[in-house]
Amino acid sequence: MKTRREFIKISAAGAGVTAIGLSGVNILGLNTAQASNDQTAASDAEMSVYPTYCEVCFWKCAGWTYVDKKGEIRKIIGNKEDPHCNGRLCPRGTGGIGMYYDEDRLKTPLIREYDKDGNAYFRKASWDEALEYSAKKLQKVAEEHGPECVALFNHGSAGSYLGTLLKAFGSPNIAAPSFAQCRGPRETAWIATFGEAVGSPEPTDIRDTDCLVLIGSHLGENMHNGQVQEMADAIDRGTTIITVDPRLSTVASKSKYWLPIKPATDLALLMAWIHVVVYEEIYNKDYVEQYTYGLDLLKEHVKNMTPEWAYGITTIEPEIIRKTAREMANAAPAVIVHPGRHVTWYGDDTQRIRAVAILNALFGSWGNRGGFYMKESVHLPKPKTPPYPKPTKTWRDAYPGQFKLASLALSSGICDATIPTEDRACSFKAWVVAGTNLPLTLPNMSNTVKAMENLDFLLVIDTMPMEITGYADVVLPECTYLERYDLIRDSPHREPYIALRMPAVEPKYDSKPAWWITKQLAEKMGLGDYFPYDDITELLDWQLKKIGSSLEEMKRIGVKKLDREHGGLYFQKGEDIEFNTPTGKIELYSNEIAAEGFDPIPVYTAHPEPDPGFYRLIYGRAPMHTFSRTANNHNLWDLQKENAVWVNPKVAELWDLKKDQLVWLKNQDGVVSSFPIKVRITERIRWDSVYMVHGFGHSDKKLRRAYGNGANDTELITRVMVDPIMGGTGMRGNFVTFLTEQPQKEAKS
Ligand code: SF4
Repeated sequence: MKTRREFIKISAAGAGVTAIGLSGVNILGLNTAQASNDQTAASDAEMSVYPTYCEVCFWKCAGWTYVDKKGEIRKIIGNKEDPHCNGRLCPRGTGGIGMYYDEDRLKTPLIREYDKDGNAYFRKASWDEALEYSAKKLQKVAEEHGPECVALFNHGSAGSYLGTLLKAFGSPNIAAPSFAQCRGPRETAWIATFGEAVGSPEPTDIRDTDCLVLIGSHLGENMHNGQVQEMADAIDRGTTIITVDPRLSTVASKSKYWLPIKPATDLALLMAWIHVVVYEEIYNKDYVEQYTYGLDLLKEHVKNMTPEWAYGITTIEPEIIRKTAREMANAAPAVIVHPGRHVTWYGDDTQRIRAVAILNALFGSWGNRGGFYMKESVHLPKPKTPPYPKPTKTWRDAYPGQFKLASLALSSGICDATIPTEDRACSFKAWVVAGTNLPLTLPNMSNTVKAMENLDFLLVIDTMPMEITGYADVVLPECTYLERYDLIRDSPHREPYIALRMPAVEPKYDSKPAWWITKQLAEKMGLGDYFPYDDITELLDWQLKKIGSSLEEMKRIGVKKLDREHGGLYFQKGEDIEFNTPTGKIELYSNEIAAEGFDPIPVYTAHPEPDPGFYRLIYGRAPMHTFSRTANNHNLWDLQKENAVWVNPKVAELWDLKKDQLVWLKNQDGVVSSFPIKVRITERIRWDSVYMVHGFGHSDKKLRRAYGNGANDTELITRVMVDPIMGGTGMRGNFVTFLTEQPQKEAKS
């Protein structure tokens, strides 16, 4: 008998159409078989146009989808009224059509079965059967262990509906990897310092800044559309950019200062900057005096953290440290020390971002033009529903006394607490996973697989057959964002904006929108009252009318700006402000962090170094892909098919590596990449590190374009350094070496 949750390749069982050749696809995302009868380009006037907001990444740029008379999607363009994109989508957003036309999409509900020899396979099911089956399985887990033993992992729009379902069911365990694997430390650090989270999109006033400091933040490669546009404009008007990175990233190449720091030492540089600013008294005195708490304590704390001290740690020369600190101070308050986004690196990440927050406080950039603006969003009314049942336990019970400053659930914490241990009374028994490919998202892939093997039930809702779907008991095919309505986008900005997403085309195959899937599942679980509408358009129209618009209006305009209701974009001079911290001030010395037993002002500690012959593994983003989710999108695959490992020429010479040579990577724990990766020899990376773009090396053959292209960095991240303050998973403490011969190990299939 095979293991309970052996990976299943989603096979022809799910294929409802004849597959087309991969070459038969053009850049617009149209497969040429479909387009062949009409090669005449339709003019815009001949097409139907529908408002949407992009789902290729979380930035949610609003746009217009153009559909020709034959019902084919011809293009997506940005909505000029939308501040997230200003009418310009990024390459990924433009290529979003590829999601709709991807012939490898999930096409029908699937249920895991076993043959007489115990081999697992998927069989096609009707929606009614798959939903009924899922409802019963979730209810069984609730009866035997309590509803709290069901957890939701989500990314994207489906999370809001499924989150309501989980809470109605009685589980508070709703997690997104975007917290513990990405921005969680910065939110905790910002709350401890300013009394509020940074949030998303970040309220960085790059449009008006005079100095932008990026620390391991790859803006431009990390394509956050509106922010990147503002940065490009800032570069054009001569804004000083200071980039701290062991790699000459794209933005580093556009910077006035590139500080090629020794990896894992950023906190020492930050503390030395604070030293210079405090001891040269070049901080924003009025602001610091009026709004902050703890300057004297900070001054004493950084007394010995001089640029000379930091030089020995970071390899950045003292004069450069002083010069860059003065550049920032000269620009203050129009300076942004960017809080970053993916900041889970070394396990002391909350403290590192605390140092970033302290610098911003010293410059007075929080609440000032050219620093950080005070964002605002629309308050959309919620329909009346029954109160949620009160859970009797949460994921926090698995970690008594730990991670109290985590403001959201830890996806990695729930994953770990799914693996039974003797001292834990109850482990998680069922997962609902929507829009996140956990094996390539959480660190330590074998740990994630082990957790999934211990589940009683795994429900996966997705558009594509990602690695996670192979471990599911039930797979439900969600339609793409171009085929569905979703909730009104109400994310914050300088002014409150709303945006509508509506279907441009009917769902392909037997796929359904997540709101429909969740409502049907809720009804089968006896929780239909939490979804008091027959069709989501009723809810949208009701909400829009309450705020002075309507569905009819939004279908015409797509995006609407509303008035600010809560104060100005910036602090007024001398304005009396109470911050949501224990002292009501911006805390340079954090009482909240001190109360939990951690350093109230950051302290630099050294991190492990690679053994001889090993190099620190640094990973990042490509502007044309979103994590591992877009690797099979033919439009984006055309732009980048695989990743490469960046190797310094000195290292390449030592190993006799040649350009484009294929190597396998082996990490400090002996884990070898399943697939080889091409070598890119470049001076743009330090000799002690290697770099690769995250999201490649897919092992599911059903992703016919993406399978086996490049290496999967997640597989090599087996050493995880957990942030004791908020539970984030530090993932940059892994080291790799090169194998130039294929290792004696079967590649995964
Ligand atoms: S940044 Fe690009 S991928 Fe992300 S929402 Fe905007 S257009 Fe889409």
